[in-house]
Amino acid sequence: MDLLAPIEEVKGVGPKTAELLRRVNICTVGDLVYCLPRLYENYQTTVNIEDLRPGKVIIRGKISDLRVVRTNRRRLTMTQGVIRDNTGAIRTIWFNQPYRAKQFDEKREYYFTGKYELKNGRYQLTSPAATLVQDVASTAMSGFQPIYSAKSAIKPQMFHKLLDGLRPEFANIPDLLPFTKGKPDFVKEGARAEALYNSHFPENPEEAESAREYLAYEELFELILAAKLNKQENQRLKSIPLPFVAEFTQNLVKNLPFRLTGAQRRATWEILQNLEQNTPMNRLLQGDVGSGKTIVAALAAAQAAQNGHQTALLAPTAILATQHFEDLEKLFRRLKRALPAGKFHLPRIALLTGATRGKRQLKEAIKQGKIDFVIGTHALITDDTHFCSLAFCIIDEQHRFGVGQRQKLLLKSPPDTAPHLLSMTATPIPRSLQLTVFGDLDVSILNELPPGRQPITTKILPEIHQKADLYPQMREILAKNQQIYWICQVIEEKNANTATPVKIQAKKLQEIFPQAKVGILHGKMKPDEKDAIMEAFAQNKIQILVSTTVVEVGVNVPNANMIIIQDSENYGLAQLHQLRGRVGRGDQPASCFLLTTGEGRPSKRLREMEKSTDGFHLAEVDLQIRGPGEIYGAMQHGELNLQIANLSDTALISQAGNHAETFIRGENHLEDYPELAARIKKYQQITTLN
Ligand code: ADP
Ligand code: MG
Repeated sequence: MDLLAPIEEVKGVGPKTAELLRRVNICTVGDLVYCLPRLYENYQTTVNIEDLRPGKVIIRGKISDLRVVRTNRRRLTMTQGVIRDNTGAIRTIWFNQPYRAKQFDEKREYYFTGKYELKNGRYQLTSPAATLVQDVASTAMSGFQPIYSAKSAIKPQMFHKLLDGLRPEFANIPDLLPFTKGKPDFVKEGARAEALYNSHFPENPEEAESAREYLAYEELFELILAAKLNKQENQRLKSIPLPFVAEFTQNLVKNLPFRLTGAQRRATWEILQNLEQNTPMNRLLQGDVGSGKTIVAALAAAQAAQNGHQTALLAPTAILATQHFEDLEKLFRRLKRALPAGKFHLPRIALLTGATRGKRQLKEAIKQGKIDFVIGTHALITDDTHFCSLAFCIIDEQHRFGVGQRQKLLLKSPPDTAPHLLSMTATPIPRSLQLTVFGDLDVSILNELPPGRQPITTKILPEIHQKADLYPQMREILAKNQQIYWICQVIEEKNANTATPVKIQAKKLQEIFPQAKVGILHGKMKPDEKDAIMEAFAQNKIQILVSTTVVEVGVNVPNANMIIIQDSENYGLAQLHQLRGRVGRGDQPASCFLLTTGEGRPSKRLREMEKSTDGFHLAEVDLQIRGPGEIYGAMQHGELNLQIANLSDTALISQAGNHAETFIRGENHLEDYPELAARIKKYQQITTLN
């Protein structure tokens, strides 16, 4: 089987099917063979409805009486239906999946797989997965079946059919991974062909499982090798060296409005040393919200300016860029007054966002090198922004930017040079992701908050207790002339006005707290409207800000000391942690309420939030609970689609790491492995931080 052959060569694929397949990125035989089953079900364990016992079950039947019920109080939807077989009928329910009501053909039979349980005094099948009986391959003898996902217009059945046609050829699939030193025993001749065969046509769960393990290893190996190659290539680039000037930095540090924390000192030192090199720095600065990353970046930018070169700081929103600019402007003004006149060169700084007036002149000044440190948004990376000598780039909240956007900024350095890069994030990247996806990049960690910070108390609170437990505390906050964030969830539904929940909630709160001014903020507002609201909130002209998660990123209002997150069950840990980081930024104690609908026990996620304010700990927990795909999705790395591997499998990662490392070190040439080389290329584009 030639995996690189076009998909048309598969029996049963005509021009029309080929077109459909190409639309979902299945262009070659290999792409098809790597479309692995979503899961395996054993349909021999199907039970009759009359025999159901609580727990995970598979039933076979028809569904009817589908309807969507809106629960007004929570603006959630519930889709109900009744499943029948020859022996009886049961109720089924999905939460927040209104499309379910239209998904089924009442005349056809489905397998339903879900949890059969007692809820509110009735037995029901909760959130079952459904597969058309007809889509389950009839060819297999055992009841143990691979289940494929439908991909837009392509039904699962199609995958069964096409793969079944290829079945005799699986044995000819060539090996892929190098049999070089450091390889684990299971990487051997024929192992790949066997793994692919067994993942599509397993006889039993064990076969499917070991096939998956092999393919996961393959995926990790590719990813890690790509990352290592990236690092190697990065080392070959030339950057502008920015020598450390001890007297200058000492003077700066001495005259800061505060004492640097130990972690800030260490991180600054690591960065300043990297900047001295003529190979580009590629460093990630990880620090929890409020850990003081900005000042570390500013000290590094000062070193660039002192050496006569430019720095750009890219921030994800105008609010954030403006805030950085104002803080840094103040800081450098103060330092200028404190340092001996004429001796050092402090950065001349400027703000460049879409809303900046006099953009033309500013861009001219940047081009001529009259500005040393530009802080901005996407406006920084437009084609007409040129630098005189961009030596250093700082990207704040790096996960907010795609690879392409970051690249665009980095290309603005002088010809034949690459800028030093500092990426900053408050969403810690677990170690396993650092090793794989980010290729063992250099990391500085701020694991120490500046002194004097008040702890944030976090409490899970069922909505029904709002009136008794929450409102009085809100009143207290308002009485102290402090401020409150109220976060609403917005359900993305077709034709729904996403701003509505925010408006309804704001109106309700305004009635309950007439003494306060309630403001709203949501994604549908224009950037300058948003800025105006944020500004009013920062100046305490608004006391309660009802908002969607648009406030999540970096906004700093130290007088806001309470945050309430409605429908908190629906957020990921990283996001909850980011949201909570909006408060506790001043010298007053702060609190965070996680409102739940109160059904059942709070999730592990919320309980972890209640227990811990350590972002690093929460990130590890998040990785365990959700898996890296989800986390990565949240990090807008849609490009990286790990199909099989589980990045929390540290043993497999370390094996693949050794294997890849010895491969690179040894006398091996990637060109001798053309298929591997092609696959690695794809990963290399994703796994780069620059
Ligand atoms: P983040 O890491 O979330 O970006 P910032 O850089 O915005 O944090 O810093 C948060 C606040 O803490 C800012 O107001 C900053 O001036 C202040 N800060 C930073 N470092 C220190 C320190 N060592 N001591 C006291 N305050 C500090
Ligand atoms: Mg920040």
